[in-house]
Amino acid sequence: SFHRVPFVLANWKINKLQGEVKDFIEKVNDKVPAADVVETGIAAQDIFLADMIRETAQSPVQVVAENVHWEDSGAFTGETSPRALADIGVNYVLIGHFERRKFFNETDSTVNLKVTAALRNGLKPIIDIDEDMSAYAQFMDAEPAVAQVAAALAGVSVDQIRNITIAYEPTWAIGSGEAASAEQAQKAAHLIRQTLAHLYSPSISEKVRILYGGSVNPDNASEIMSQPDIDGVLVGKAALDPDQFLKLAQIA
Ligand code: PEP
Repeated sequence: SFHRVPFVLANWKINKLQGEVKDFIEKVNDKVPAADVVETGIAAQDIFLADMIRETAQSPVQVVAENVHWEDSGAFTGETSPRALADIGVNYVLIGHFERRKFFNETDSTVNLKVTAALRNGLKPIIDIDEDMSAYAQFMDAEPAVAQVAAALAGVSVDQIRNITIAYEPTWAIGSGEAASAEQAQKAAHLIRQTLAHLYSPSISEKVRILYGGSVNPDNASEIMSQPDIDGVLVGKAALDPDQFLKLAQIA
């Protein structure tokens, strides 16, 4: 079967100051695995991205944006253009994180606009699916999760889907200290892969990486990442620490 390179992605949110960013990168730069073994990335505030691109020029660490606007340019004060992200050398962008949906009115439809804008500009979206899967766990009702995945991917072609990563992050697990069990995470990731198989094809669904996020740390990561449909982790709190970030990359 198709080999998916694992992905360990830190999400710093609005934590860290300039000096801390620099120290972290200096610490991990030449200790992370080669990109064909484990891909590593750091999602950070826009103001740090250009410096981070320079500081990681000799390292496989990917610099990731936490959000992006859906228009390439124009009168959208305060937003960040996907074209400008690509221009400074960013490859990946996180889209539809739970906190964006919760605090900034991000909807399935704005997520989809951002996904297509990112792809149009050569950026690779990491799409957050924050469905809690409670309907699926209780009644095997897959509809809410399937609907969220399908809405995010509306208009994404078979050729473009290879550039998509999905991150399954149940709302209740983010920042709560209570991660999903490996079994719950696998069940959800499998449902997402089945949805991709239905929307595209089974063979295409095997090529898309699916990450788990929500209170991952070096103690629970190895069981979660050993699940067949889980190809890596999206990590908030634990990945603020360079040693824990490196540990997670080793585990992957
Ligand atoms: C996140 O913000 O995507 C996340 C998973 O955070 P934490 O690891 O702190 O739960």
